[in-house]
Amino acid sequence: MPPLSMNCSSSAAEVRLAAPFSHIYVEEDILAHRQTQEILSHFRDACIIPIHHYKDIFNRGRQNAALQRRSPSLILARNTGSLIYPGAPVCQDFGEKHFYYTSLCMNCPFDCDYCFLKGMYPTGNLVLFVNTDDYLKAMDDLCSRHPSYLCLSYDTDLCALESWTGYIHFFHDALITRENLTVEVRTKAACTDLMTDLSPISRLIFAFTLSPDYVARTWEHRTPGLSARLKAVKTGLDAGHPVRLCFDPMLFFPGWKQHYRDMIETLLSTLGEEGLSRVRDISVGTFRISGTYLKTFRSQYPDNPLVQYPFRLKDGYACYPDELAEEMESYLIRLLSPCVDENRIFRWEAEP
Ligand code: SF4
Repeated sequence: MPPLSMNCSSSAAEVRLAAPFSHIYVEEDILAHRQTQEILSHFRDACIIPIHHYKDIFNRGRQNAALQRRSPSLILARNTGSLIYPGAPVCQDFGEKHFYYTSLCMNCPFDCDYCFLKGMYPTGNLVLFVNTDDYLKAMDDLCSRHPSYLCLSYDTDLCALESWTGYIHFFHDALITRENLTVEVRTKAACTDLMTDLSPISRLIFAFTLSPDYVARTWEHRTPGLSARLKAVKTGLDAGHPVRLCFDPMLFFPGWKQHYRDMIETLLSTLGEEGLSRVRDISVGTFRISGTYLKTFRSQYPDNPLVQYPFRLKDGYACYPDELAEEMESYLIRLLSPCVDENRIFRWEAEP
């Protein structure tokens, strides 16, 4: 285990330039936990700071979340609260009756300018929960009641953390014997190695969010570009993994039509019609966010044009006006429809 106070005396100027996770807060109760030790072994130069409870750091007042996102700290903790939640209304449920999500990590290593996490959490730091066995028990309880569908990486990107967490491998191996459980892992990562390392399981779906290169470069900070994501998609398909493509959220901006057209052309030239026919399904949806999160988001990021649009507010959710959302989603579906059956394309719809 690294010494607890190593490198903790950086000056303010150095801290601003520090690499992500140069400081790691660890709940005292889990300092000796196997998973904690495994994770810390990947950060031998980090300053390790014992804490009582993750909320003492994560929820404290007067944080500068925007600055923290440029160089986040990591907090390792045990989740003693709810481990599995019913899917939120803004989530696409793919027609699944028993639809849930879990949160192994709060916040994300990527930094998308439209991300709802910016309206949800008061900090840019990440909390990673190390009690993965408790999560497995919660999954077993859920599946003893009915077959279930679980989003494992909904409000973070676990694939981007895989090199030092190993969580995708852990849940992949656990899933083999849990036949009542289907898991979706959503990602923007260029996780080509992960696609070749893991044996495919029909109940483990890798859902790749694809965006035009312009969107990735301008608003999805630290994410790989379209071609790197498509390389992982192709590798996943060739390895036999169930692959989902998510064009969600689509963003409205000047020139959006041309950028989304270019993206579909790149997709077709990379996968070909045959590759696209092996994609399990496709999700299409325009940007939407809870009205409460939007209010916080706008106040904390007043210069962010993506959240200053005059959204339509309906049942507590902010969306583009119906006509615009319809135009955008229909346009993308028309681009895809020569190669993809429409019954494999899911659109997000507000609950009636
Ligand atoms: S990858 Fe997803 S969860 Fe991560 S910052 Fe972007 S939108 Fe948020």
